[in-house]
Amino acid sequence: MSRTSTAEPLVIDVAIVGAGFAGIGMATQLARRGRDSFVVLERAGGVGGTWRDNTYPGIACDIPAHLYSFSFRPPWDWATLYPQGAEIRRYLEQTVVDEGLTPHIRLGCELRDARWSDAESRWEIETSAGAVCARVLVMAVGRLSEPHIPDIDGLESFTGTVVHTAQWRDDLLAGGERIGVVGTGASAVQVIPHLAADAEELVVFSRTPPYVVPRDDRRFTVEERAELAVPERAQAVRQDMLADADRAFRQRLGLRPDIDAIRERASSHLRRQVAAPGLRAALTPDYEIGCKRILLSDDFYPALQRPNVVFEPSALDSVVECKARAVSGQTYDLDVLVMATGFEATRLPAAVRVRGRHGEVLDDHWSAGMVSFASTAVHGFPNMFVLDGPNAALGHNSAIYMIETQLDYVVGALDHMARNAIVAIEVTAAAEEAYTREIDERSASTVWLTGCNSWYVDPRSGRLTLLWPGTAVSFRERNGTFDPTPYEIESRPVDEGGRYP
Ligand code: NAP
Repeated sequence: MSRTSTAEPLVIDVAIVGAGFAGIGMATQLARRGRDSFVVLERAGGVGGTWRDNTYPGIACDIPAHLYSFSFRPPWDWATLYPQGAEIRRYLEQTVVDEGLTPHIRLGCELRDARWSDAESRWEIETSAGAVCARVLVMAVGRLSEPHIPDIDGLESFTGTVVHTAQWRDDLLAGGERIGVVGTGASAVQVIPHLAADAEELVVFSRTPPYVVPRDDRRFTVEERAELAVPERAQAVRQDMLADADRAFRQRLGLRPDIDAIRERASSHLRRQVAAPGLRAALTPDYEIGCKRILLSDDFYPALQRPNVVFEPSALDSVVECKARAVSGQTYDLDVLVMATGFEATRLPAAVRVRGRHGEVLDDHWSAGMVSFASTAVHGFPNMFVLDGPNAALGHNSAIYMIETQLDYVVGALDHMARNAIVAIEVTAAAEEAYTREIDERSASTVWLTGCNSWYVDPRSGRLTLLWPGTAVSFRERNGTFDPTPYEIESRPVDEGGRYP
C-alpha cells in the first residue's frame, strides 16, 4: 500500500489482518464469491504466516500433508506424508497466485490500531502504510506469531548469539559451534537432530521431557502421487486421515484403552531408542500423556545420544557472558543459544491494538483469557471475526480443518449481512457467556485441565482458552454454520447498487 497516513483512507468492505493459512483462506473464499472489496494487511514482506517465519533446520509439519492443506483447492503434489516447511510455504504462495489474490495483499503493512466507529458502523484502521476503513475486520494473526523468550537472568550479557526458532537465519551457523537449545517441544525435537550433526557440542536444556512417538514419515511413490492427483481420491484420503486423527480425542478425555495405548506407544519408542537407564529415566515424563503436544520424531532420541550432545534435565537458569547455568547447577560454555521456547499463544499480542464499542480494548476484554461466541465472534466488537483464536486450535488434528470451519461461519455471516442490508452485527454478552460456560464444561474432564501445566491453559484464569475441547468434526457441527439468533443487528437501507449510502 503506497498511501501515507495523510492520504485518504482506503474504504473497503473487509479488512483481513494476516496472510497466513487463515488470512489466505479467507481471501480465497471472498474472491471465489465474486467479492473484490477486500484487502489483506500483512506486516511481513511475504505471505505464509508461521510457515514463512519458521525456517529452522528440520522444520516440517506433523499432520499429514493431504489433511494439512485446503480442501477447496486442487490436490497438491506433496512429496512426503508429512510436509516440509518450505513446501507448505510454496503451497501458500501458489494459492495466492492461483486464486488471484496478489492485488489484494498489502505486504509490509502492520496493523497499528483498529477502532470501531459507532457513527459510521465500520472499523477505522491505522496501519504502518496508511488508513483503512472497513465494514468488517477479520483477525487472522495466528497463535504462533509472537516468539516467547523467557526472562532468563543475565541473558543480555550473553557474548554469543541468541536466536528464537521462529527467527532463524541461514547464515547463523558456520559449523563447529557450542550450541545450547532451550526447550524440548515440537520445534526443538525437529531442530535438535540437525544442529547436533554440525555442532562441536550441543546442550539440550529440558524443563519437562516430552512424550514422543514414532514419526514414520515416507516419500510417496510415483504411483501414489498419480493416484492422489485425482481430486476424489485425495478427498477420500483426507476424510480417512481426519477420522483417524479425531479418534485420538478419546485419549485427551483420558478414556481407556485409548490413553493406555498411546502411553505405551510412547514408552516403547523410548525403550527401543534409549538403552541407558539414566538418560531413559530423565526422558520419562511424569505427567499425563496428551496434556502437552505429543511429538512425532524418529531422530530426536538418537540425536541425544551422540557423543557431542548433552541432555541437561533442567531449565536454563541464568547466563553470565558465555556461561549458561542450568537449574541443576551445571554450567556450560556456549557460543549460540537457540530458544525453542514457543510463542505468546494465550495472549494474542495484536489484541492491545483493537478497540471495540465504547473504546474497550480487546486485550482488556480478554484480561482473564480469551472468550468468544462460536470461537469466532466477540461481544463488544461488532463486525469482527477472529480466526484461529479462542478455543479454535487442536492438539490432535488439522488446524486447517478448523480454519475452514471458521471460514464457512464468516462467509455465512457476510452473506447474511449482504442479503439483509445489515451494517453491524454484534454477538450478545449472554451468548458469549453461555459459550464460555459450554467450553468450561466440555474441557473439565480433558487431560489439558487434569494432566499438567501447558500453554493451552491461560495462567490468569486456569481456563482452557486455546484448544477446542472436542473432535475436529464436533467443532464443525457446533461452529460451522452462521446463525443470526445470538446477534444484535443494525440494518440500513442500501442503494440500487447494493451499497450503503
Ligand atoms: P512449545 O511447544 O511451547 O515448547 C516450548 C518448550 O520450551 C517447552 O519444552 C517448554 O518447557 C520450554 N520452555 C518454555 N519456557 C521455558 C522456560 N522459561 N524455561 C525452560 N523451558 C522453557 O513451543 P514450540 O516447540 O515452538 O511449539 C509450539 C507449537 O507450534 C506446537 O505446540 C505446535 O502447535 C506448533 N508446532 C507444530 C509443529 C508441527 O510439526 N505441526 C512443529 C513445531 C511447532 P515446558 O514444557 O516445561 O513448558
